[in-house]
Amino acid sequence: MATDLPGPHVLRRMVDGYEVSRALHVAAALGVADLLGDGPKPVGELASATETHAPTLYRLLRSLASVGVFAEDADGHFELTPLAQYLRSDVPGSMRGWAVWLAQRSTWGMWGDLMHSVRTGQPAFPAVHGTGVWDYYAQHPEENTVFNAAMTGGSRAQVDAVVQAYDFSGIDTLVDVGGGQGAFLSAILTAYPAMRGVLFDQPHVVTGAPVVLGASGVADRCTIVGGSFFESVPADADAYILKWIVHDWDDPEAVTILRTCRRAIADTGRLLLVTRVLPPRNEPHPAKFTDLLFLVMYGGRERTAEELERLLAGGGFQLQRIIPVTEERGESVVEGIPI
Ligand code: SAH
Repeated sequence: MATDLPGPHVLRRMVDGYEVSRALHVAAALGVADLLGDGPKPVGELASATETHAPTLYRLLRSLASVGVFAEDADGHFELTPLAQYLRSDVPGSMRGWAVWLAQRSTWGMWGDLMHSVRTGQPAFPAVHGTGVWDYYAQHPEENTVFNAAMTGGSRAQVDAVVQAYDFSGIDTLVDVGGGQGAFLSAILTAYPAMRGVLFDQPHVVTGAPVVLGASGVADRCTIVGGSFFESVPADADAYILKWIVHDWDDPEAVTILRTCRRAIADTGRLLLVTRVLPPRNEPHPAKFTDLLFLVMYGGRERTAEELERLLAGGGFQLQRIIPVTEERGESVVEGIPI
């Protein structure tokens, strides 16, 4: 954001931020960037392929071109720019799944009632949609598919960084607790050919796992288990990893999940959280806003190092180390051992 503009203009850009966001979501949901993968196209062709109103699609793409996403060439054809590349589906670092998820009605609706969360401290999602996120997704399989794709895309984007930052050697069996459809676990198992994996998530989520694990060639080293981490997780593994889990929950629920892991883990085992760690006060950090995302969505929260230490202690673990993973997304691996 340009800071040489007068204050009111800077603030106006911030206030209007969701206009850019919304335009990006629509372009992502329509798959415009994928259609441009093999070169520039006239807007009429894009409109036919996306079943949209051509003059209005033009206005959408023109607005995005003004912020560097897509560009209109001298012939009036649209093309990809370096930023627009990341709206394609199958490129490393793709943001498409995330952009589509943020676009879908249930996500948009919960953000629309941030005020409810700020007034009450409670998540907006159930207030808006009548039920919590996980039940809602169980009842809306299409939206659940979009959510899972957003998580899978996000996992792929950072998995290399996690594998590089953390030394998983010495782990015989790793349980990925709330592991979605297994994209993250697949990548770890690929990097550690002797390791065995257990993918654990809700039954309706793990139904999509065999395809993901099969595509990575690790299916024969991985067991898939459906269940709830509020009841039990597969026992006796030497390491349990929870990526993007504890921030979904407020402290009482997060502690319950950790206690469930504590009951299952060997005394010599280790617990690994992949999560963002909130820096103090004014320091800019992605977690400052994902904290609000988890608030409106689940009543969850991001945590400081001290809060994570307390959370682990409540679950029966001692914080050992915090290993930073990605600078730009502010992820870390938080390592704990059973007390
Ligand atoms: N670890 C994955 C997914 C994070 S999203 C990743 O990093 O991509 C949070 C996950 O928690 C979802 O996959 C969701 O299905 C799972 N989850 C939510 N409630 C659960 C429960 N009670 N038991 C097990 N998994 C649950």
